[in-house]
Amino acid sequence: MNKYDIVIVGAGPAGMTAALYALRAGKSTLLVEGKSYGGQIVQSRMVENYPGAPEIGGFELAEQMMTQLRALSVEIKWAEITGMRSTDGGWELLTRDAVIAARAVILATGVGHRTLGVPGEERLIGRGVSFCATCDGMFFRGREVAVVGGGNTAVQDALVLAETSPKVYLIHRREGFRAEKYLLDKLEGNEKIEIITETVVDEIKGENSVSGVVLRNLKSGERRDLDVAGVFLAVGVLPQNAAFADVVALSEDGYILADGDCKTSARGVFAAGDCRQKRVRQLTTATSDGTVAALSACEYLDA
Ligand code: NAP
Repeated sequence: MNKYDIVIVGAGPAGMTAALYALRAGKSTLLVEGKSYGGQIVQSRMVENYPGAPEIGGFELAEQMMTQLRALSVEIKWAEITGMRSTDGGWELLTRDAVIAARAVILATGVGHRTLGVPGEERLIGRGVSFCATCDGMFFRGREVAVVGGGNTAVQDALVLAETSPKVYLIHRREGFRAEKYLLDKLEGNEKIEIITETVVDEIKGENSVSGVVLRNLKSGERRDLDVAGVFLAVGVLPQNAAFADVVALSEDGYILADGDCKTSARGVFAAGDCRQKRVRQLTTATSDGTVAALSACEYLDA
């Protein structure tokens, strides 16, 4: 079995940056990805906080990262890693139909979408319930939509959707938003966006597609029905590290514990990007982690 120097799990910005550094260091490198490359960033229509690229589409940025890797003849395997086990001098990563051997591993699995867990939600995902305004907003052109959440994603989604929908309801369970001020400022004066705070969604209605949402005000208990064709969920993210729980130490809420050098509790296993326990999850911190994890892995291999 071919044993790679470094196997990187996840081809988001953290994983792609790790691959860039590993390849440039001359290490035999495999990038493993279960879905499509780019991670969460492909869902941002415009990225405005990546140094050197004042305005760039998220998809375009991911494309450019991959183009840079292809020029270095990156090897990619499209598979989901279901587990890993230690071997003499390294690790074996398991997929449904293969075993991949590595001397060092970088986990850059990112995060998945949190859901509300209300009636109608699961059944209507892809039928009006969406996690990506940039990707799906155009399907709702001319129709009223709702966004749920109070973070950066929710505010960005509301702004994107207001460009194509006549009315956007931004529904948040608290009075105050956790989104950054520069985004909140953009909401001001946007007459298409109605902000509904201290309110939760109790149900998403619709047979074959979304026809509305049932809201409940948390203070008064009052219920309100909104006729919307789309519901965009922006209620945060969840780690997806279950496959590695036996190997690396995780925080209580499932994020990988790693030190400043991106070293995990397991020898030769590093973690980079949103999948690891940290306070700031941004594109810049993901690429920073990718760099640190790759250089730490190189140092480990060369020791
Ligand atoms: P987030 O910041 O975690 O915000 C999630 C929001 O959803 C919070 O307002 C939370 O409410 C709400 N929420 C959670 N569970 C809920 C539930 N069951 N029902 C109703 N509401 C619920 O998530 P995010 O906006 O996706 O951002 C994730 C990370 O990516 C953040 O670090 C963010 O800064 C970053 N990000 C950055 C950019 C950028 O730089 N431009 C863009 C997007 C995201 P509470 O406030 O009550 O907890």
